[in-house]
Amino acid sequence: MSTEWLNEELYSAWGQRFRVDRELVRKKSDFQDIVIFESESHGRVLVLDGAIQITERDEFVYQEMLTHVPLLTHGAAKRVLIIGAGDGGVLRRVLEHPGVEKAVMVEIDGDVIELSKTYLPKIAGAAWNDPRADVIVGDGIEYVAKAADESFDVIIVDSTDPIGVGEVLFTDAFYQHCARILGPQGLIVNQCGVPFMQADELRETSLRRARFFSTVSAYVAAVPTYVGGFMTLGVASKGGNPARQDVGVVRERAREAGLLGKTQYWTPEIHVGSFNLPPYIAANLPAS
Ligand code: SAM
Repeated sequence: MSTEWLNEELYSAWGQRFRVDRELVRKKSDFQDIVIFESESHGRVLVLDGAIQITERDEFVYQEMLTHVPLLTHGAAKRVLIIGAGDGGVLRRVLEHPGVEKAVMVEIDGDVIELSKTYLPKIAGAAWNDPRADVIVGDGIEYVAKAADESFDVIIVDSTDPIGVGEVLFTDAFYQHCARILGPQGLIVNQCGVPFMQADELRETSLRRARFFSTVSAYVAAVPTYVGGFMTLGVASKGGNPARQDVGVVRERAREAGLLGKTQYWTPEIHVGSFNLPPYIAANLPAS
């Protein structure tokens, strides 16, 4: 049995550790240190700059909630923009929706994509080869700055935390462009951290987005690897309020998309219920 452990220093006085049973690859890319290792408890694990990004065992929680909730909330999404998400898991879930005609994925680090294809093939499955997928290696902020007005229905941001290359994806300029390039019912979703430990992230992101979107809300998911209780996924919409949805409508949309019974975390009830926030989390959203 391996005696090597990876210590993830999450906060100044708290972290978690994984036993590293086999290191599969280690590379210093132009943007970050990339490690993929095998763990008996979580399967293969992707680590960027010492921070756990995704594990094979629990990726379904995060990916299903980050994807199915915005797409089924919109209800008729044809054009989807994904920023970051180099492991390919969001791309795979987006392409599970037969109504999606085009999924553009913009990831800044081509090495994350290539290493994920080689060492994490289960996460994206066949999505990389889907003719509807357009995978671009580039900076998300540059892409949105150049994109045409109203050219997407849903934007999904699956980035690293707001430090380093991911920082620009949490700025006013980024959200302003996202609002401009989304259609009239468009919405954007991104991870806003674990509010028990990172309430600032949800509060600041929500305030920023309220400058450019009519409705700002958030929903929760319990992702075992992102320790500290619920993580929040922030959503900002140009159309209706995603926090007020009818479960029957969501179920019917999922049935039409062929998703019912095929997910491991997402269900119509969880979709609607996840917008019911514990008060300690709701306190970080602007009053609506
Ligand atoms: N699910 C993970 C989490 O929440 O910890 C994150 C997934 S990880 C694959 C996020 C990706 O965002 C990284 O591969 C990183 O290279 C990419 N990224 C960071 N900043 C970016 C930017 N400005 N434009 C595009 N992609 C970016």
